[in-house]
Amino acid sequence: MSMNLPLAGQVAAVTGAASGIGLASARAMVEAGARVVLIDRDGQALERACALLGSTALPVVLDLLDPAQCATLLARTLALTGQLDIFHANAGLYVGGDLVDADPEAIDRMLNLNVNVVMKNVHNVLPHMIGRGTGDIIVTSSLAAHFPTPWEPVYASSKWAVNCFVQTVRRQVFKHGIRVGAISPGPVITSLLADWPAEKLAEAKANGSLIEAEEVANVVLFMLTRPRGMTIRDVVMMPTQFDL
Ligand code: NAD
Repeated sequence: MSMNLPLAGQVAAVTGAASGIGLASARAMVEAGARVVLIDRDGQALERACALLGSTALPVVLDLLDPAQCATLLARTLALTGQLDIFHANAGLYVGGDLVDADPEAIDRMLNLNVNVVMKNVHNVLPHMIGRGTGDIIVTSSLAAHFPTPWEPVYASSKWAVNCFVQTVRRQVFKHGIRVGAISPGPVITSLLADWPAEKLAEAKANGSLIEAEEVANVVLFMLTRPRGMTIRDVVMMPTQFDL
């Protein structure tokens, strides 16, 4: 592995890495020279992903909605790699449509994964990063947090919460050499869009607003390769139509 690659010598952990944005982010980081721990509850998809990415991609099967399993994320990463430089908190669920029609258990699962798990995992990895005096944390948020629409109130609120978390934690930890940023894509072609209302998906397709997961991964890499000493801030990937 060439030491000239931008992430050479670094270790990353990416949640929700068996598919979609997480897989694209993990691939981009592997190609940029990092060793990457791919974390997901889907063990078979994770094995397939790591087989494709090569020996610097390491699978860890975890159901992040199980608090006991979630609490092992850092320990299991360190057992494989000995260090953690980059944490991409990406795993998330989607609940859209009218609030009155939503399944309360689905709302609970979504809020737990999109908000609680993100906060707990960041809380978990920070002492390790503070101890080393360096680290980068990226949270996958959403355009929905910046331009909330009436057809996804709970999802938009979950991403609003993590945006606020990112903006506040960033200011606590920058003095320790740790950078925290959120990436907020509009609609991305992944399995998550299967839960979108059909008419919204058709609208996004028709106006050219859909993007590929690889485009999000490229922006994550751009954020991570900003010169150290500069915050990585937040990136909103504006689609053709902002109220999607
Ligand atoms: P995806 O469904 O392709 O990927 C999500 C991954 O998370 C899957 O591999 C799934 O197995 C994993 N996962 C789900 N629950 C888990 C759990 N309990 N424990 C461990 N892993 C779990 O979806 P995606 O679009 O790549 O979503 C990734 C992130 O991007 C989410 O936070 C989502 O809110 C955000 N996002 C997606 C879009 C979009 O349009 N696709 C837009 C903006 C933001």
